[in-house]
Amino acid sequence: MRMIPMVDLKSQYENIKQEIDKSISNVLNHTQFINGAEVSQFQSELSDYLKVKHTITCGNGTDALQLAMMALNLKPGDEVITANFTFVATVEVIGLMGLTPVLVDVSPDTFTIDTEAVKKAITPKTKAIVPVHLFGQAAPMEDILELAKEHNLYVIEDTAQALGAEYTFKDGTRKKLGTIGDIGTTSFFPSKNLGCYGDGGAIFTNNTELAERLKSAANHGMTIRYHHDRVGINSRLDTIQAAILSVKLKYLDQYNQARQKAALYYREAFADIKEITTPKEYENSNHIYHQYTLVLDENVNREALQSYLKEQGIPAPIYYPIPLHLQKAYQDARYKEGDFPVTEHLCKNVISLPIHTEMKEEDLKYITDKVKAFFN
Ligand SMILES: *Cc1c(COP(=O)(O)O)cnc(C)c1O
Repeated sequence: MRMIPMVDLKSQYENIKQEIDKSISNVLNHTQFINGAEVSQFQSELSDYLKVKHTITCGNGTDALQLAMMALNLKPGDEVITANFTFVATVEVIGLMGLTPVLVDVSPDTFTIDTEAVKKAITPKTKAIVPVHLFGQAAPMEDILELAKEHNLYVIEDTAQALGAEYTFKDGTRKKLGTIGDIGTTSFFPSKNLGCYGDGGAIFTNNTELAERLKSAANHGMTIRYHHDRVGINSRLDTIQAAILSVKLKYLDQYNQARQKAALYYREAFADIKEITTPKEYENSNHIYHQYTLVLDENVNREALQSYLKEQGIPAPIYYPIPLHLQKAYQDARYKEGDFPVTEHLCKNVISLPIHTEMKEEDLKYITDKVKAFFN
């Protein structure tokens, strides 16, 4: 039996081994393991790639979100609106900061935050909106920016799953995700579209004052050494990870194209299966398929499909099985089951298939043949 991996970091490494080994060995030789030259070099390379003024690297994507909220001087009691259908990190940092998370439903087609729902959730206490570019495609940024402007709100883009994707505005202007709001955040978790070989994250902004506050917040609240102007945290990308990411950044577009190619194969293969809805590509964003997530008809036994695929060596995880408002840690008198119909429907009916940068056509054929066999 074949064993298909969800991501294939081993083959990816083999293909760029020489460059990666050389960059790691440079760091081992100069021993500046923290704040080595590779860190600022990677920051400026990523800024150039994204066409953003400032990139501040940090320890991981969760810290990046927390640092964004610290830099915006959000205070306990301030409300922050975010999507209910997302990885927990987004809402976790809102809670940790003593802010009030306000959850809203998502669009059934794109799984990203629903603008009408955001509109309804805005109160005088609202200070920020955190759209999540889920699974590799953009939240409706133009509408969100409009709302934010109208109500004087900050926008923090969670770009952990969509680094390298672009948003096209109505006037044709194109911007990379993460550079559109006041602050963008991302993660370099190994399986993300741009992943390192450990933990890592980054924050983006075009606002120089915010950039200074972000740097200081990530560095114990310091701007001048041993002068602490505010309470900060310690959150750094180490030099070895920066050296690895400098190499991998050169391949990011190619990696995203490989994911798109796999997604196209899936789409064509499943076109005739009426129980499956393949991902819809939002017209303003080029989907870069961090995940390839299907929505199954309600009458499909998802668990049966999942275990059938598992027996064939095909992992098919559920991103995400439980909406945030039904998670133990985030239960709240404001919310009950049934309040977020789209999110709840998705949590019950989505299933994801392997997608990564090294997928071979024979693997795609194997996977799609098995899925088709299940439905025939
Ligand atoms: C991965 C992820 C994060 C957190 O990133 P870490 O580096 O694991 O802390 C945050 N938000 C979203 C949407 C993610 O997918």
